[in-house]
Amino acid sequence: MSVTVRIPTPLRGFTGGNKDVAVEADHVGEALEEVVEIHPELRPHLYDEEGEIRNFVNAYLNDEDVRTLGGESTPVSPGDTITIVPSIAGGATEAPPAPQLSKEEIERYSRHLIMPEVGMEGQKRLKNARVLLVGAGGLGSPLGLYLAAAGVGMIGIVDSDVVDESNLQRQLLHGTKDVGRSKLDSARDRLADVNPHVHIETHELRLTSDNALEVLEPYDIVVDGTDNFPTRYLVNDACGLLGKPNVYGSIFRFEGQVSVFDARHGPCYRCLFREPPPPGLVPSCAEGGVLGVLPGIIGSLQALETIKLILGTGDSLVGRLLLFDALGMEWRELKLRKQKDCPLCGEEPTVTELVDYLEFCGVPEYEESEMQEEAAVPEITPTELKSRLDRGDRIRIVDVREPHEWDIANLADHGAELVPLGTLGERAPELDRSEEIILHCRSGVRSARALEQLHEAGFSRLWNLKGGILAWQEEVDSSLPRY
Ligand code: ZN
Repeated sequence: MSVTVRIPTPLRGFTGGNKDVAVEADHVGEALEEVVEIHPELRPHLYDEEGEIRNFVNAYLNDEDVRTLGGESTPVSPGDTITIVPSIAGGATEAPPAPQLSKEEIERYSRHLIMPEVGMEGQKRLKNARVLLVGAGGLGSPLGLYLAAAGVGMIGIVDSDVVDESNLQRQLLHGTKDVGRSKLDSARDRLADVNPHVHIETHELRLTSDNALEVLEPYDIVVDGTDNFPTRYLVNDACGLLGKPNVYGSIFRFEGQVSVFDARHGPCYRCLFREPPPPGLVPSCAEGGVLGVLPGIIGSLQALETIKLILGTGDSLVGRLLLFDALGMEWRELKLRKQKDCPLCGEEPTVTELVDYLEFCGVPEYEESEMQEEAAVPEITPTELKSRLDRGDRIRIVDVREPHEWDIANLADHGAELVPLGTLGERAPELDRSEEIILHCRSGVRSARALEQLHEAGFSRLWNLKGGILAWQEEVDSSLPRY
């Protein structure tokens, strides 16, 4: 039988640069013997002194591992291709033989295939690639859509949220009909419609120190689309420990950041930000807001970097931090350097296993991205407050949100007054210490902080409205808009 033996790049020096060697053989072992007959210099690399194939050399018959087919005695057919795949220490291993593309796939990806930078080889690499998206929200939406459309063979998604009406302004994976569904179900349906040739693996969980290494392990590239610091540090550290690239993106209001962290040959997130900001200093998107189109731009850049990493083409953002200011329409690029004393990827790393990231980020009670704090502050539920107001109790309601939030919905009909959290210190003297004061915000987090601040200033008759104006809307007055 006439078969082709494909020689990997590192071994082509022993075959006179030839990529393919045509031989006559009846089974795999014979074909490999024939190759080393023709190119004797190759023999010591493929066989040990006893004449056995070295155990770091794998052979594939077409696209199947020979070990799973029956070893060296596996028979071959005319026209078969045997590919030699050696393991290579440290560097990038030769990509495993890529699966063939079907006729439908060739037609679907034709605009990729006609570009020399992608071509058939690149498209097969995409099909072979396994990418994990952490988050199916604002950044995860363009990421999922573009990576699926591009033909990334396996896309994993980690998320534990449910689609909320307020997500639809930017999370294009989900539609109006999906409100109330799990984000993963919604994402899976949408991506299967975009490209039925990709395999979607869903992980319905919150990433924690206990599960992160196991979840990330099967993937080649991890894309960070999270919205909170504990998960961001967790993803960074897990990628560093596993030796995987981490395609980073973050957004806030009108600003975005993109980079690629790869602790093997570049800086990591901890080289950039050694420690997270104290809780509360940087608001989340839920508190601070985000322009709807911004995650579209930043998430698309992450998808682009991911595809370049898979193709092995172009200059990646490793060692560079891209900053985008949408209001000024300005891009800036900063050089990132690996820090010698980085606790994860420096010379003497202290982070050698995953730690408690909630504690590291100083948010011990932090449970959900909506940040419902199980605070130790005295609380009153909206229903209790309503019945006290109906009884005519003398209560002062202080809304500590921002003026633009007040414009969306407020409790002015019940006598609420606006004192934004940032101005509470200077305006506290306006408040009467003998009065009962109910503090509220959107979901109850900022008002809990306000309560502690007033408590320290000597106020004692304080209550936090549990769940904020959102809970009031749910329990008492459904005519108020949610935001
Ligand atoms: Zn580092």
